[in-house]
Amino acid sequence: MYEFKYHRPATVRQAANLLTKNEEAKLIAGGHTLVPVMKQRLANPPHLVDLSHIEGLDAIEMKGRALSIGATAKHADVATSATVGEAIPALAELAGLIGDPAVRHKGTIGGSLANNDPTADYPAACLALGATIITNKRRLKAEEFFQGLFSTSLEADEIITKVLFPLPKKAAYIKFRNQASRYALVGVFVAKRPSDVRVAVTGAGSGGVFRVTAFEEALKKRFSPKVLEGLNVPAACIGRCAARTPDLARLSRRARAGHRHLSVAADGPAAVPGRRGRRRQDRDRQGAVGGLGTQADPAAML
Ligand SMILES: Cc1cc2nc3c(=O)[nH]c(=O)nc-3n(C[C@H](O)[C@H](O)[C@H](O)COP(=O)(O)OP(=O)(O)OC[C@H]3O[C@@H](n4cnc5c(N)ncnc54)[C@H](O)[C@@H]3O)c2cc1C
Repeated sequence: MYEFKYHRPATVRQAANLLTKNEEAKLIAGGHTLVPVMKQRLANPPHLVDLSHIEGLDAIEMKGRALSIGATAKHADVATSATVGEAIPALAELAGLIGDPAVRHKGTIGGSLANNDPTADYPAACLALGATIITNKRRLKAEEFFQGLFSTSLEADEIITKVLFPLPKKAAYIKFRNQASRYALVGVFVAKRPSDVRVAVTGAGSGGVFRVTAFEEALKKRFSPKVLEGLNVPAACIGRCAARTPDLARLSRRARAGHRHLSVAADGPAAVPGRRGRRRQDRDRQGAVGGLGTQADPAAML
């Protein structure tokens, strides 16, 4: 790791000033993405601005008909929050599926969204639920926030302060997990909102998280898993990742049907393999994540 100067601001304004003053400064929240990259000397920010001591930046509360989650709320906070569990249980469940306990007790929602890993879980929830990402400068709809692999519309000196999730009528999230990191090989978030239905997919697109409008239209007409039978995801959404994408219509059907766990077989999610088959699949899945480039180009994360 290269030498850097550590700053611990007490307010978002102080943090923003530090970013403006020090051009190459980087924000740090949970450090679970940034620190490994720095340890490998793939990044050398001369200044680190730590958000984790800013009081109130991790608040989780209801704001009218929306759930507000502060940028430094950790995945474990979201997973165990009674407010989240009552408002959007699918979001609490998603947070509980992220990584392992160490990751969940350090990683933050703001860091995850700013990083926009194409296999991260929160982007699918933000897109499907129609979240608004609030920064120290503006409000960004999820659609305008996510710009592609490890890319967002955040400016260099912009700080995510909270995320607002309008309450859906129903929602569910389901993912195939990488057996080592627990990142989503593919994750699907389905949300029935007051006026429409949204289906967002993480892990399977060469441009990062995306919506599947064909599924959304079918589910809007009739909110039943049956309507997805025979539907396919347009090749343009998947791009280079087509070879490793399982049956997304089936995943969406299961998310719609409220299934929590899914057994995966090489030829599709329905059959449950034996122990030897499972070991082979675990190896296959780990290889597939590398192929997508999740950890292949850590410098691109910054
Ligand atoms: C072993 C392992 C397993 C994981 N498994 C999963 C998984 O299953 N699913 C999943 O979704 N993720 C997973 N992750 C990622 C994890 O959720 C990280 O915590 C997350 O990607 C980054 O959050 P952080 O708070 O640690 O961010 P940091 O590492 O502190 O920062 C990441 C980036 O975001 C920027 N940043 C941080 N906060 C803000 C802010 N408020 N405003 C603007 N920019 C900001 C930083 O400058 C940096 O560029 C895993 C990570 C590890 C190490």
